[in-house]
Amino acid sequence: MIGVMIFGARCEAEAPGASEKFAKLCEQMVKTQIEARGVKSKIVLDALRKVERHKFVPQTYQRQAYEDHPLPIGEGQTISQPYIVALMTEVLDLDSTKKVLEIGTGSGYQAAVLAEICHQVYTIELIEVLGKRAEKLLADLGYENIRVRVGDGYKGWKEYSPFDAIIVTCAPSHIPRPLKDQLAEGGKMVIPVGETFNQKLVLLAKKQGKIVEENIIPVRFVPMMRHDGKEY
Ligand code: SAH
Repeated sequence: MIGVMIFGARCEAEAPGASEKFAKLCEQMVKTQIEARGVKSKIVLDALRKVERHKFVPQTYQRQAYEDHPLPIGEGQTISQPYIVALMTEVLDLDSTKKVLEIGTGSGYQAAVLAEICHQVYTIELIEVLGKRAEKLLADLGYENIRVRVGDGYKGWKEYSPFDAIIVTCAPSHIPRPLKDQLAEGGKMVIPVGETFNQKLVLLAKKQGKIVEENIIPVRFVPMMRHDGKEY
């Protein structure tokens, strides 16, 4: 067996020609799954072109990294489908001045996409091994504008609030109050809400202190969990 199957050992030499092959698959992904479905924001499309998604999945799944579906990342969790990552990023109206909070770091892929666009990214992961692995990977890839914390994202990250945007990539049954409170005036939050694997993606905007909600599409995310393993 060549190489060990260590998820996280990103700096191993790739097979000759592998990075060109992955770059082609990435370009195809952006064209056929994302642009074709109506995502237009150039900064979002460019960010998806830049982040090497195969580096965020376990080695056994690398060949599927650019396919049109979520993939397992260990601990019963998944990296979201590329289109969902693009759509959620686009609806937040981000730019290089923005400070964004992500709940559910998982592999770190969504955080990397956000970091390509925004000034600063804060991301919280409940499961320690995932949070630590993502933190190391993002540092190895050279991201200096991402802060990873292991903890319960339900409570947000008050110390760095308010946030211009909040993106939640695990699904609670209701929108956490602390996250609404930590959203800046004029800010946007995108969050899947509902029962296990049957949720709607909701976009919230804070305007003059009031929250306006809009449903986007039906989605299937892993549930938002508490420390005791119960679901929110
Ligand atoms: N954004 C991720 C996808 C993560 S899947 C990516 O790009 O890969 C959702 C993640 O949310 C899982 O890793 C899960 O452990 C995490 N999660 C679940 N409940 C949480 C909570 N209360 N706080 C923070 N993270 C949570």
